[in-house]
Amino acid sequence: MAGADSDFDAIVVGAGAVGLACGRALALRGLTVAVLEAEDAIGQGVSSRNSEVAHGGLYYPTGSLRARFCVAGRRMLYPFLDAHGVTYDKCGKLVVATEEAELPRLEGILNQARINDVEGMCWLSAAEVHALEPDLRAVAALVSPESGIFDSHGYMVALRGEIEGRDGAVVTGTPVLGATPLEGGGFAVRTGGRDPTTVTTRLLVTAPGLSAQDVAARIEGFPADLIPRAHYGKGSYFALNGRAPFKRLVYPPPIPGALGVHYRRDLGGQARFGPDLEYVEAPDYRVDPSRADGFYRYIRRFWPGLPDGALVPDYAGVRPKIHGPGEAQPDFRLDGQPVHGLPGLVALFGIESPGLTSSLAIGEAVADLLDA
Ligand SMILES: Cc1cc2nc3c(=O)[nH]c(=O)nc-3n(C[C@H](O)[C@H](O)[C@H](O)COP(=O)(O)OP(=O)(O)OC[C@H]3O[C@@H](n4cnc5c(N)ncnc54)[C@H](O)[C@@H]3O)c2cc1C
Repeated sequence: MAGADSDFDAIVVGAGAVGLACGRALALRGLTVAVLEAEDAIGQGVSSRNSEVAHGGLYYPTGSLRARFCVAGRRMLYPFLDAHGVTYDKCGKLVVATEEAELPRLEGILNQARINDVEGMCWLSAAEVHALEPDLRAVAALVSPESGIFDSHGYMVALRGEIEGRDGAVVTGTPVLGATPLEGGGFAVRTGGRDPTTVTTRLLVTAPGLSAQDVAARIEGFPADLIPRAHYGKGSYFALNGRAPFKRLVYPPPIPGALGVHYRRDLGGQARFGPDLEYVEAPDYRVDPSRADGFYRYIRRFWPGLPDGALVPDYAGVRPKIHGPGEAQPDFRLDGQPVHGLPGLVALFGIESPGLTSSLAIGEAVADLLDA
């Protein structure tokens, strides 16, 4: 039921996991939805260059959107993947302390996980860790049984299917060039690509990942001083040439601004380590082989058996950060009318990890903000 004068009830900018989840939530509430994507396929942005981990929700500050959405999104995610036949492995995760000095950090994480209502967390002694993962070196660990890995592309295809199944449209090759608020409410949205056009919508959601600042600046009347500065937090991965050493995800305690280099075995059995964190001037996806030195040193703290020469440069992703090096990591931003003053608009900023895990919950929250 599009508004009498609008082509669509809702337009979402960006067909990554978050934009698609927003489109799905709005379509499930009976709205006519179009998700507009600049690239020629869905999910080519941040959503295709990450760890594909369904996070438990352990670390995030009490009451933050990241804490709430991660736990709620993960609880919605596994049933969604089941319902759509998307592959996942709820393999569990170990957060390891490799020396006594790290034990207070582990205690802090366990405490925060309990405040965040994460299910099934428990403390393991060195002997218990050894029994689970014989090659892992740790003085103690936390186990998060709800953590896992999943096929993030299959997930996005399923989201698209739900939108289209509700007569929504997911249109690729269609960059949004700008939007103008209309007098009677809603927006005129200008698109480029092969068939440039202007369409109207009652509601507008911007979920363009690394282009969040650029897209917000193209919305007439969006206050420039409310657009956070963009920072790019590159994370490189190295693949292991050899047999995967552990069944579970393995994470040392987080580093400032990221969860830090961790171990995972993907759904095909390939072991990988990453991502590290390197602030860059602009997104770039080359993996510098010389970063391997730091990876060897870091990984051998929890896996002394890592052979020389076993790490192979793999891929990189870039976090859409809204904080610079040394600054405290801010929360997700879902900016609605009370923030920017434009009725019918929600602009997302800083949707870095755990954005993939949180995406279904973000979609619901965006639909609530729009009173959809
Ligand atoms: C290295 C790394 C590891 C991570 N690991 C995890 C993890 O294990 N678990 C987890 O939960 N989260 C993880 N994250 C975070 C997660 O990947 C992101 O939060 C999530 O994918 C963001 O999705 P998105 O839809 O907001 O952005 P994107 O996937 O980038 O989608 C935005 C889309 O908008 C499109 N777009 C841009 N501009 C326009 C325009 N003008 N018009 C139309 N379309 C436009 C882009 O082409 C893109 O497709 C990780 C992130 C990184 C970088």
